[in-house]
Amino acid sequence: MDNIELWQSVLAQMQFHISRANFATWFQNTEIASRENEKITISVPNAFSKEWLGNKYNKPILKILREIDESIKDLDFVIQPKQGKNINFSSIQYNEKPDDIQLKFEEFKVNKDTNLNPRYMFENFVVGSFNELAHAAALAVSDNPGFTYNPLFIYGGTGLGKTHLIQSIGNKISDNSKKKKKVKYISSEKFVSGIVSAIRTNSMEVFKASLAPLDVLILDDIQFIAGKTKSQEEFFHVFNSLYEKNKQIILSSDRPPNAIAELEERLKSRFEGGMIADVSLPDYETRLVILKTKLQEKNSALAEEILDYIASNVKKNIRELEGALNKLLAYEKINQLDLASAKNLLKGFIFSPFDVANSKKIIETVAKFYNLEEKKLYESTRRKEIVRPRQVAMFLLRKELKYSFPAIARKFGGKDHTTAIYAYKKILQENEENNKLTQELNLIKQRIYSG
Ligand code: ADP
Ligand code: MG
Repeated sequence: MDNIELWQSVLAQMQFHISRANFATWFQNTEIASRENEKITISVPNAFSKEWLGNKYNKPILKILREIDESIKDLDFVIQPKQGKNINFSSIQYNEKPDDIQLKFEEFKVNKDTNLNPRYMFENFVVGSFNELAHAAALAVSDNPGFTYNPLFIYGGTGLGKTHLIQSIGNKISDNSKKKKKVKYISSEKFVSGIVSAIRTNSMEVFKASLAPLDVLILDDIQFIAGKTKSQEEFFHVFNSLYEKNKQIILSSDRPPNAIAELEERLKSRFEGGMIADVSLPDYETRLVILKTKLQEKNSALAEEILDYIASNVKKNIRELEGALNKLLAYEKINQLDLASAKNLLKGFIFSPFDVANSKKIIETVAKFYNLEEKKLYESTRRKEIVRPRQVAMFLLRKELKYSFPAIARKFGGKDHTTAIYAYKKILQENEENNKLTQELNLIKQRIYSG
């Protein structure tokens, strides 16, 4: 068996263990780069894949390899462009019912009992470091609703997959229980208008009774309840009665509970009593993976340079990414699509960071995030509570706007440009090591880009 055959058979087995989306994400463009005695080296296209395969799939890959050839003892990954020919992905059978793959998204209908859209599945949800925690929490809740994390609270900017993720939980619980578990998905807007009309028609008890038998209640965009006192009061009772029966509650919001203004304290502390996880912005690599996953679902393809163009330029959120892709695919059905026409078609989507994230916006957002007056950032002081936010602002000017170091130094009152270089390097390095900083940077970027 040569290396190509060996890797083919590893892939053939791997696919039974993971979803189609993840398989495409992590195994496309991989191959065996070399085999020296007991050690196999797999080549992967980028650092991102290297990290994920190394961390998450190392064990199962090695196990499968050893089942084929037990002299193999060790596994390693290198970043290296693929040399051999592509593995024919279309010949691979995925761990899904074939009907599911054939179904076009448009054909999915919202379920009348649960309000869930079956198109939202874990299988087509791409996971990366930007949503890893939320995804893991969502899976845990699906496997053991009511007992792992209750409530589960997912937050993040618009178009980043909150609805997709929380509906996937609902679909999975419903399927796993052969539809025995009663799941209901309600947008908070609908929920509030339900309460309002129940109050008006004196039918609050009926409204509550309709929620009482639920095993899982999913409320989307709960920030909508802010400032609505009466709805909050009724929701508090609904929440408690489900919670006491160990029924699962899942919430999404555009911000964490402690940042929802005009939310009653007692609700805030209920929301904080379970698991809180965020979804943030995917980076370039992940945007590319998402595009490729969507293409596979639609059984379509686009030239690599066009995909690269979309992934490099459509950065606002995943919804826009999908919109851009759909627009190009629609055009491509009747025309020849080249890079020039793609650029033209995507003008409305291309979101130049310079439009939204100018330096003023970045500095403003950083100051606000750290609760500082903006002018403090310009002061020459070594106080830690100011130095750190200033370094973050310098870092973002470089990273997001490609400012030169001297230009950054000028912005901050004519400091020496080595100060800017130092700040950039420091934050860059800490970002690798410090989860809290990564979270902060993500939240700040979300705020900058959400307009
Ligand atoms: P939100 O509720 O946060 O505004 P949605 O869940 O509506 O965002 O997501 C917007 C679109 O992007 C949906 O079509 C969704 O399927 C898609 N999407 C979001 N996140 C992902 C992901 N991680 N993988 C695949 N598709 C995603
Ligand atoms: Mg949503």
